[in-house]
Amino acid sequence: MNNEMCFCGERDSEKLFSIKRNNTDFRITKCKGCGVGKTTPSIPNQRGLEENIKFYKQHKKDFQKYFQNLLTKIKKFKTEGRMLDIGCNLGFFLELSNKEGFDIMGVESNSTAASLAKDLLGEKKVHSGRFEDINIKPDSFDIIVLNQVLEHMENPLETIKKCKSILKENGLLVLGLPDFGSVLSRLKGKDWRYLVPEQHVWHFTKENSKKLLEENGFDVLECNSDSPYFPFCFNPFLLIDKFYFELMSNVKEGDTFSIISRRNEEK
Ligand SMILES: [Zn+2]
Repeated sequence: MNNEMCFCGERDSEKLFSIKRNNTDFRITKCKGCGVGKTTPSIPNQRGLEENIKFYKQHKKDFQKYFQNLLTKIKKFKTEGRMLDIGCNLGFFLELSNKEGFDIMGVESNSTAASLAKDLLGEKKVHSGRFEDINIKPDSFDIIVLNQVLEHMENPLETIKKCKSILKENGLLVLGLPDFGSVLSRLKGKDWRYLVPEQHVWHFTKENSKKLLEENGFDVLECNSDSPYFPFCFNPFLLIDKFYFELMSNVKEGDTFSIISRRNEEK
């Protein structure tokens, strides 16, 4: 993929910010076609770095709370079936889903995280590698989860299309994403903690991610901001900022969101 081109095919973009990190000058732009934000230069698949793994382990309880909340939302639409978690990290979400009766499978591109997930869930429940590189038969899963993952992918459009092709009839696609359109993102600008330019390639809003799903054969069933508290434990480099806590508890709007969508059988 051309670095300057958006996954929607558009080359024209509006420059928003410049950010310097570790001697690299990153630019954040907004696509004039689909409106999605993009980091250039982009470094896809930078997730589950060693420092983060330590952090996830230490904060397992906080993550479980967040995951339980997401699973409760999913269970409004499906209470059983075969679930794939793409970018399953250490496997905490799948561990919970398995306990609640789902038949689970995970994919994780970071080999250290994949190996820890295998220890937790079983060797055969986790594939170590990139989702893009795996062959999966059509009609394989009832639910696919991409939680805080799509923003790291090289090509989100191809990822969504591949998900559609391996979902069963009326299968669910669940996205969890940082919200580039949130109050906090707009207030903090280039200092918004989720820009993380060395990891996050794409910056979605509720509106443009809904549009991406709807244009590619999904019906959006539900779209909600998450609890404002969760993502404080996301990035060890940005840690807790008291200002965020106070502000977000007042405005009641977290800067991550989840979307539950269903494969549209007519498209
Ligand atoms: Zn675009």
